[in-house]
Amino acid sequence: MRYYSTRNPELRDTFTDAVLNGVAPDGGLYVPESVPRLPRAFFNNIAGMTLQDVCYAVAGYALRDDVDAAVLRRIVNETIYYDMSLVQVDDNKWAMELFHGPTMNFKDTGARFFGRILSYLHSCGGSAGLRELNVVVSTSGNTGSAVANGLLGVPNVHVFVLYPSEVLSPMQEALFTTLGSNVTAIEVNGTIDDCRSLVQQLFADTEIQKKMRFTSATSTNIARLLPHMFHYFWAYACLVRQGVTADNVVVSTPCGNLGNLMAGLVAQKMGLPIKRFVAAENVNHPFVNYLRGGVFEPQYSTPSIAPSLDKGNPRNFERILRFCGGDVEELRKVVSGVVMTDEETEAVIRDVWNSRKYLLDPHSAVAYGALSRDIKDGEVGVALCTEHPVKLRGLVERIIGEPVPLPERVAPLADMAKRVVHVNSGYKSIRNYFLSL
Ligand SMILES: *Cc1c(COP(=O)(O)O)cnc(C)c1O
Repeated sequence: MRYYSTRNPELRDTFTDAVLNGVAPDGGLYVPESVPRLPRAFFNNIAGMTLQDVCYAVAGYALRDDVDAAVLRRIVNETIYYDMSLVQVDDNKWAMELFHGPTMNFKDTGARFFGRILSYLHSCGGSAGLRELNVVVSTSGNTGSAVANGLLGVPNVHVFVLYPSEVLSPMQEALFTTLGSNVTAIEVNGTIDDCRSLVQQLFADTEIQKKMRFTSATSTNIARLLPHMFHYFWAYACLVRQGVTADNVVVSTPCGNLGNLMAGLVAQKMGLPIKRFVAAENVNHPFVNYLRGGVFEPQYSTPSIAPSLDKGNPRNFERILRFCGGDVEELRKVVSGVVMTDEETEAVIRDVWNSRKYLLDPHSAVAYGALSRDIKDGEVGVALCTEHPVKLRGLVERIIGEPVPLPERVAPLADMAKRVVHVNSGYKSIRNYFLSL
């Protein structure tokens, strides 16, 4: 598969260059040029396959020209070592739990896969003799911890996570500040916007670039985005396995930067029989506005109870638009948009808990609520549940009025020592730190 830039279809790169560059040299995002279709036999057999087998088949098809098959098998097995499970919540609605990884967030899959691909491409000489690749990422919580855990211990790769002080929950912070090894946590005395701006300045600093090679680990990077396809394929496999004749499947995705939705659209092009998607947004809904009115206007983001959806200018919008034929009519054929306010999302969490004893986190509840509103008779609905409800425990406890127990595996984090570098929000402070490394 070759990848072209959203800003210039003539600019094509290999998978290796696309991954190592992160963003195309002209500032656009890489879009797959043509997508291979999986054979019919794969779908006929899918109900009997393991999670690892399904993921390997999908990755193998998508990356068969670029990554050695045996290497890919190893990478898939090392990435997919935890479960993804489909739980029936209502007559026609299922919850796809994507939060059983180390940081209890769906980004774990993409981050781990990305780390291993990066290390492999690097060992093949893809980055021209430079000793180490440096992944720099800013985070308001989830991306940083998923990327740090996904890349922990990966040879020849160092991860720097920049985060704003006094914004993250203690658990979010502990998930990457206690790791050590090849992960450096940098606390910025400023806001998330300051962190983003510092990352951009580092990426543009030629003196530092001479010393270190940087790459991006957000969903702009296709190696982090493509593995999200696994979620959709496995949801389908689980449906078939549960005896649901699934040719009428609607998947609802909670949308922030639209990476997860983009992966679903690629999966569909690979032949996965998903009838349509619901793009579920909260008070920040530039994509739904586009679907409704055909005009894309970036907004300032407004804080909500589902902070990973608070994106006023979703990064993958231009990629989705290109991939789906470039206009709103084409997009409307496969995606419909639903907006959930915080009040509505809280009501969904309470209702589903009271009536079904199933606990949704706020991001997943946006997807589930949007699905409930949009599903038609005869359709089978899957809501992607992107985060474990314990991650926003205090909030969820307040909403349902009951305590939410902490899973055993996260409890010890609280006692581990944090290792953090402190910088202020001006560029000079972080620049000096990088120059001193
Ligand atoms: C990142 C994130 C999302 C949004 O995914 P995008 O790919 O950015 O659209 C949804 N839910 C949770 C919990 C997230 O961390």
